[in-house]
Amino acid sequence: MNHFEYRNGEMFAEEVPVGKISREVGTPAYIYSLATLRRHYRVFDQAFGKTPHLVCFSVKSNSNLAVLRAFAKEGSGFDIVSGGELFRALQAGGDARKIVFSGVGKKRDEIEYALKSGILMFNVESEQELMFIDEVGRALGKRAPISLRINPDVDAKTHPYISTGMKKSKFGIEIKRSAELYKQALTLKNLEVIGVDCHIGSQLTSVGPFVDALARVREYLDRVLVGYLRKEGADIRYLDLGGGLGIRYKDEEPPSPEEYAGALVKGLEGLNVTLILEPGRVMVGNAGMLVTEVLYLKEHEEKKFVVVDGGMNDLIRPALYGSYQAVLPVAESKGETIVADVVGPICESGDFFAKDRELPRPKPGDLLAVMSAGAYGFTMASNYNSHPRPPEVLVDGDKYYVVRERESLDDLIRGETIPPALQ
Ligand SMILES: *Cc1c(COP(=O)(O)O)cnc(C)c1O
Repeated sequence: MNHFEYRNGEMFAEEVPVGKISREVGTPAYIYSLATLRRHYRVFDQAFGKTPHLVCFSVKSNSNLAVLRAFAKEGSGFDIVSGGELFRALQAGGDARKIVFSGVGKKRDEIEYALKSGILMFNVESEQELMFIDEVGRALGKRAPISLRINPDVDAKTHPYISTGMKKSKFGIEIKRSAELYKQALTLKNLEVIGVDCHIGSQLTSVGPFVDALARVREYLDRVLVGYLRKEGADIRYLDLGGGLGIRYKDEEPPSPEEYAGALVKGLEGLNVTLILEPGRVMVGNAGMLVTEVLYLKEHEEKKFVVVDGGMNDLIRPALYGSYQAVLPVAESKGETIVADVVGPICESGDFFAKDRELPRPKPGDLLAVMSAGAYGFTMASNYNSHPRPPEVLVDGDKYYVVRERESLDDLIRGETIPPALQ
């Protein structure tokens, strides 16, 4: 559910007309709904009911400070994958003791920053990383809380680029090697082994793969954790099951948070751990849109193109994954419809928001809303073709706030210099 709807033929974000925001802040622009963000968090969190759990919002899906702040105020922790994301989470008022650090390529400065900040745990993805975190901990005189990210070798049945839990993926530690690595971790003095972690992919639209992954981890936990680790003194208190719950972009029917939570909680009975969840997309995806203005309509013999002012530099999902995003007129029209590709200004044929899409025949100046753009939208935006990145707007009831300004032309060249020989 979200708070974007038509009223008398005009699209609203909560109580504010999308057309009004677009006229005032220009296009392209990201618009988020605060009520939707809050609602998504609460529904997800409440789905786990009394099961001891911690929701750690996945910062990479939407890293805007105001969005992070909204979740922090709901009590959310954060799942980060870089020092930069740690900085953002802390700046937004996030509690370091609710931050988990994932990712295959953590660098020394990032590990030091996280250790000094006192994060909840590092989700370790390789043997060398395990040794390295111990070494950094020793240099700082600190013990690093860790879990191992296990690769359960299950097929998430999602796009290959966002499937992370299969043997051939770069993520995690092979399940059959992880027991050995846990034993090794217990011998390292600057590590504290506190958890087990597993994240199998993104935009999962059925509970099957989650249940399979949990069953594999569970079998392993019963054998290794209960049978060995706890006896050796490792206090395994957390089971992190990652993120990945899908959303509806078109006609997908992803499980509800209640179904998802129900399936996981059932697989956990008797384990006596605190569950950690790292949802990203399900929190923010349908809480945001990208508004773009129609520049031209090109009618070729075989095909029509609606050229808009936003492009793959602003929202790369359709270009990168071939994914579907709904494109809706901001002002409804009952006139003639056309079938066209909605394309941006970027000099790449992959620069499109929609292919062969039926929409009301647009004229220059009309506004289109690319829906479900709150996750992996702005965070994946770039300056390709030297377009300043769009602003981000947060709507709260009948008010809206520009929570990130549109970049300026000066921002485009910030930090660039011309060496003396060229002056
Ligand atoms: C990307 C990612 C997530 C969030 O995935 P969603 O599909 O957006 O919920 C969670 N955990 C890790 C480790 C990730 O890499």
